Amino acid sequence: MADTTKEIPVVKKKEQKEDSTLDASLRPRTWDEYIGQDVIKKNLAISLEAARKRGEPLEHILFYGPAGLGKTTLAHLIAHEMNSPMRVTSGPAIERVGDLASVLTNLSPGDTLFIDEIHRLNKLVEEVLYPAMESRTLDIIIGKGPSARVLQLDLPPFTLLAATTRMALLSSPLRSRFSGGTYRLSFYSHNDIERIVQRSAVLLNVSIEPEAITELSLRSRSTPRVANHLLKRCRDYADVRGNGTITTNVAHDALHLLDVDQKGLEISDRRILETIITKYNGGPVGIQTLAASTSEETETIEDVHEPYLLQIGFIERTPRGRMATRLAYEHLGIPLPANMQETLL
Ligand code: ADP
Repeated sequence: MADTTKEIPVVKKKEQKEDSTLDASLRPRTWDEYIGQDVIKKNLAISLEAARKRGEPLEHILFYGPAGLGKTTLAHLIAHEMNSPMRVTSGPAIERVGDLASVLTNLSPGDTLFIDEIHRLNKLVEEVLYPAMESRTLDIIIGKGPSARVLQLDLPPFTLLAATTRMALLSSPLRSRFSGGTYRLSFYSHNDIERIVQRSAVLLNVSIEPEAITELSLRSRSTPRVANHLLKRCRDYADVRGNGTITTNVAHDALHLLDVDQKGLEISDRRILETIITKYNGGPVGIQTLAASTSEETETIEDVHEPYLLQIGFIERTPRGRMATRLAYEHLGIPLPANMQETLL
């Protein structure tokens, strides 16, 4: 008894650590392990090879696309390939010009700097970033009023890699400074997600039946991070309710308990669809109104829910707002309104 109580905190700690390091532990470490996104990989291979041949750092590169598709992982792979340590920060972490100045002046020649969520940089900071990216100079204003002067510091050659889920929020001067390219990550094919689940299962040392891999992949929203998350939840379920193996039944029951449906939709996705259909007659409904009616943040709807609902054709974006499609009605088992039935005929 005494032993069990002693063990509890240890187990908890381990689980917490596993949760926070799940992404890191399953993160591909080589290009071969990075599944899918073939066009991006091919383009990056050329840029990397060219930079190496010229003995120069890679030019600045921007990755964009919904969360969990592998932007950070690509940045890690690039830094590894360039044999340079990667400094990691994010838009919200750089609040003041001084924060950026300290990040930039601490870079060594050839370093890679990764800024996640770059769309959340404030304008003042962004303006200091322009000359840093373009001509490797840092302009710092010292003093105020007529006695203010600009101190210009030279920065070492470095590569900026940046990621955003919201390309539209990036100013065009900032976008244009990514001279090494701007890459849009797309949702993964079913086959690629299956390969990712298979690889993660090996790394997590859990056995999983082929049908369970299919079941899990189908509900992973075509997104590697979601696939890994569901796999881990199924592993928990298998350990507690089964014999440790993720069988088809275990996968089915675990996903049912998580309330993840056949299309990978969670309760909040379904609430959004139901709200558009039942409260707003299928739409169009503006994003602010939708957020207020579903008690979700506008940003959460735009970043987390909407990209996948658009991808599977459950909603449409029109200038007047979001509309539910016929597929959404069918998925939720709600009878089609008369106007949609007419278009079918
Ligand atoms: P993002 O930065 O786009 O939000 P990440 O790069 O953090 O996404 O990816 C989330 C997790 O998904 C990673 O830790 C990794 O385990 C997995 N992952 C992402 N892309 C791939 C891929 N192409 N192949 C295998 N696993 C991937």
